Amino acid sequence: MSAPLFADSVASCPHTAAVIGAGTAGMATALLLARAGHRVTLFERVAVLSPVGAGLLLQPTGLYVLERLGLAAQIRASGARIERLLGTTPVGRIVLDLHYADAGLGVHGIGIHRGALSSALWSAVQATGVTLRLGSEVDLVEQASEHVIVRQRSVEAGEQFDLAVIADGTFSQLRSQVAIPHEIAVYPWGAWWTIVRDPERRYDGMLRQTYQHASRMLGIMPVGRLAASATAAMPFVTLFWSVRRVDEALLRARGLRAWKEEVLALAPEAEPLTGQIADFDQLIFATYADVRMFPWHHRRVVVIGDAAHATSPQLGQGANLALVDAAVLARCLNMHSDIPTALAAYSRARRAHLNYYQWASSLLTPVFQSDARLLPLLRDMFMGVACHMPGARGQMLSTLTGTNTGLLRGNLKLE
Ligand SMILES: Cc1cc2nc3c(=O)[nH]c(=O)nc-3n(C[C@H](O)[C@H](O)[C@H](O)COP(=O)(O)OP(=O)(O)OC[C@H]3O[C@@H](n4cnc5c(N)ncnc54)[C@H](O)[C@@H]3O)c2cc1C
Repeated sequence: MSAPLFADSVASCPHTAAVIGAGTAGMATALLLARAGHRVTLFERVAVLSPVGAGLLLQPTGLYVLERLGLAAQIRASGARIERLLGTTPVGRIVLDLHYADAGLGVHGIGIHRGALSSALWSAVQATGVTLRLGSEVDLVEQASEHVIVRQRSVEAGEQFDLAVIADGTFSQLRSQVAIPHEIAVYPWGAWWTIVRDPERRYDGMLRQTYQHASRMLGIMPVGRLAASATAAMPFVTLFWSVRRVDEALLRARGLRAWKEEVLALAPEAEPLTGQIADFDQLIFATYADVRMFPWHHRRVVVIGDAAHATSPQLGQGANLALVDAAVLARCLNMHSDIPTALAAYSRARRAHLNYYQWASSLLTPVFQSDARLLPLLRDMFMGVACHMPGARGQMLSTLTGTNTGLLRGNLKLE
């Protein structure tokens, strides 16, 4: 993709827009469209946005969009700077070792609690004159030639808009109402996630992963401070552990002690972290899926974020892709006053970048989460070496930083 992400202009023709879903994709879109002069209504099914979930890794792409939204300072203050991704086997064989700084001076990621990103976006949305509809689940999006009607079962009359942006997440109920063929495939593996304190700051600066074959994976990443916590200054980390979906109930039944023993057999140094987990209720089980569709628009409706292109979190890109979606969509709507033309330009502009990350994450996920034996063996033999080979390292770095648009296509322009 060669066009810059942002066009600084305001909308040549302001529209009324319904944005459905107040996740990263929906909030960033509502904010950018409202700032450009569009009249935006944001529908969210939950009544109160609460800081659920664990940690997220924000990449230079997502940070760039947040910078342009004026939120990066706040995000940096509550998150933790990530300089390096280090993945090893239990005996210390290096599988992945990437330094953000090798992609450019000052390049880094930010580990952050999901709730901190959500509240930064939410405060900005509230201050921007977006009409907010919390506790409003949208059930139907109907298209007519000149408008879109958004309907909720609980409200008799539908509401009319010039366009609708569907951003209702991986398991979207609205995606199938848009006349675009799509597929969803749930991964056989998910992960337990939690947030714990890192009093010794042992994990400062890096996302640390330990792998045994592809059936065991422990990840630990700093996420900075938790604003709501009594120990606000204390650094926290997110810890995740790979779990086969069909085994989740069984592992719970075997008990916390058996699970901790399994974790510590892989990484004994994680004991100060697992020691803080006293109940399975502290672990969130996350499942994930691949969503494929193209194009991402039909006439006056566009699907963005996980609803349009969910992947496994292996590459840590989903929220970043959602932020880029929002920036490109706002740019297209500012540049083209005709809505179907603007949305067609959006689908074209997002194609290479999204195709690359969907391809790369579906290729790499089984290398780290599966029952395969040969794949992880090859991974352990060659991946660490590839991290030091100039061509391969360049591709790995641009994949990590979120800018890759295809092996021979060059990188996304952050300007
Ligand atoms: C375990 C895990 C770890 C991850 N780690 C990373 C990471 O490190 N880095 C990264 O970039 N990404 C990561 N991701 C991916 C990232 O979380 C998602 O890609 C991102 O949150 C997508 O945002 P979204 O706005 O598209 O969807 P969501 O965050 O799912 O938001 C959808 C919103 O729509 C609302 N909604 C749903 N249906 C309706 C309806 N009918 N009407 C109104 N509202 C509705 C929902 O309540 C929700 O608020 C991870 C994901 C998982 C599961």
